[in-house]
Amino acid sequence: MQVVSTDSTLDSTDPGDFMVLVGRTARASAGHADQAVAAARAAFASWSGTPPRDRAGVLLRAAAILRRRRFELMAWEVFECGKPWREADGDVAEAIDFCEFYAREMIRLAEPARRDVPGETNAIEAISRGVVVVIPPWNFPLAIPMGMTAAALVAGNPVALKPAEQSPVIAHHLVEVFREAGLPDGALHYLPGVGEEVGRALVDHPDVDLIAFTGSRAVGLEIHRRAAEPKPGVDHFKRVIAELGGKNAVIVDDDADLDEAVVGVVKSAFGYAGQKCSACSRVIVLDGVYDAFLARLVEAARSAVVGPAADPETVVGPVIDAAAAARVRDYGRIAAAEGRVMLSVDVGPLAERGHYVGPLIVADVAPEARVAQEEIFGPVLAVLRARDLDDALRIAAATPYALTGGLYSRSPAHIDRVKREYRVGNLYINRPITGALVDRQPFGGFKLSGIGTKAGGSDYLREFLLTRTVTENTLRRGFAPEPEHADPAEDVAGL
Ligand code: NAD
Repeated sequence: MQVVSTDSTLDSTDPGDFMVLVGRTARASAGHADQAVAAARAAFASWSGTPPRDRAGVLLRAAAILRRRRFELMAWEVFECGKPWREADGDVAEAIDFCEFYAREMIRLAEPARRDVPGETNAIEAISRGVVVVIPPWNFPLAIPMGMTAAALVAGNPVALKPAEQSPVIAHHLVEVFREAGLPDGALHYLPGVGEEVGRALVDHPDVDLIAFTGSRAVGLEIHRRAAEPKPGVDHFKRVIAELGGKNAVIVDDDADLDEAVVGVVKSAFGYAGQKCSACSRVIVLDGVYDAFLARLVEAARSAVVGPAADPETVVGPVIDAAAAARVRDYGRIAAAEGRVMLSVDVGPLAERGHYVGPLIVADVAPEARVAQEEIFGPVLAVLRARDLDDALRIAAATPYALTGGLYSRSPAHIDRVKREYRVGNLYINRPITGALVDRQPFGGFKLSGIGTKAGGSDYLREFLLTRTVTENTLRRGFAPEPEHADPAEDVAGL
């Protein structure tokens, strides 16, 4: 292992308390990206040649280490990313699930499919792709980088991991987990640094085969474009996995159980301060229950406790950084111009301590309004009125995103119709729209929410593998006999 120090560094601070420095890491440059890719390439033959069961064994040991360190890792998330305990627990648990699931998936995929006929064998086998760059966001600071890294590694690909600027310390622990689990040197390279610097250098590097990216639409589109540009030295198509944002809507039907709907929408919209790609940022309410739902929603949201993530009663912790807080405040002003602000929680003196912004609910929003179209990534919820289910479905689909969506209804006909017509990656009926579980609810969207891959699903590892078909004609016309004395030393002795 090579440890590299740099003159400039990255400071990671607690978003809930400006005074707390959580950690300081090196700041990798474009030159370090070159070194890491070269070392990953050098490791490719031995790591991809390691039997899949042994690679899976590394993931299973990593899962056991994560279990052992579960509470400690949760604590890092609470302080580095402002995740309330319950959400942090979910994130660590998901990281464990990814390791367990992808390990078993690899063992399944390692067995070639066979299409043998008399006189001919055909093996359809999965082989490693090459060097993988992993670029995650900060909002699921262990689960997302772990999921992408574990999938790439178990498929036999060495990885260069560039964590988000806001969560390099948790990513460092991820790398430590893999080291303890017995991952050989050279298979995983940790490059904390700035996206536009080392991230871009990794994306542009000619010797990279696949980029696994989760983050914003703007950066995802840029990576997709850059990876497709022919550059000197590139002799292959770079594959891009891009899991991007959402503008997710929950439809509340006029016969919905409003108790359930209110609780589900508050949880989906304000859990982790709305900083989930799956969060509900639009609720589309049918005319018949609009006023009743809105009144109850506002009161329920008012009771969601805003405070430091370490405080067990907190529902809405801080947002991740100063830029996020400023963005949410800007949208607060836009919301006031675009609709009727029903709730705007003042965080009082907390604002002097950390990046706190209170829940905001804006009603009577037009479908084309900015607060109904743009991903805000904070505790802001737009409420839209729909004449009927037709209108609700039309409004729900009228954004460039298709990540998650939901429906609260007691009408079997309406439930069936929404299941058929509401095209989003993860559709939830009569439950909150966040909290997908590995294997049970493979996660990911389409349109401009992503390219259609499903993290935690049975097709995901295929993205990190190539398929090779090996055909052998077994109708041999005679054999070339093997030499009897294959050992030259014996030949010499016999002279
Ligand atoms: P972001 O796009 O700002 O950053 C994501 C990563 O990209 C970071 O590691 C960053 O350093 C890196 N990066 C930035 N510019 C880069 C460049 N030019 N080249 C290479 N890398 C670069 O997103 P974020 O603020 O970290 O995360 C929030 C976003 O992620 C939201 O849009 C959210 O919806 C999305 N998200 C999507 C999913 C999903 O599964 N679909 C899951 C979580 C988050």
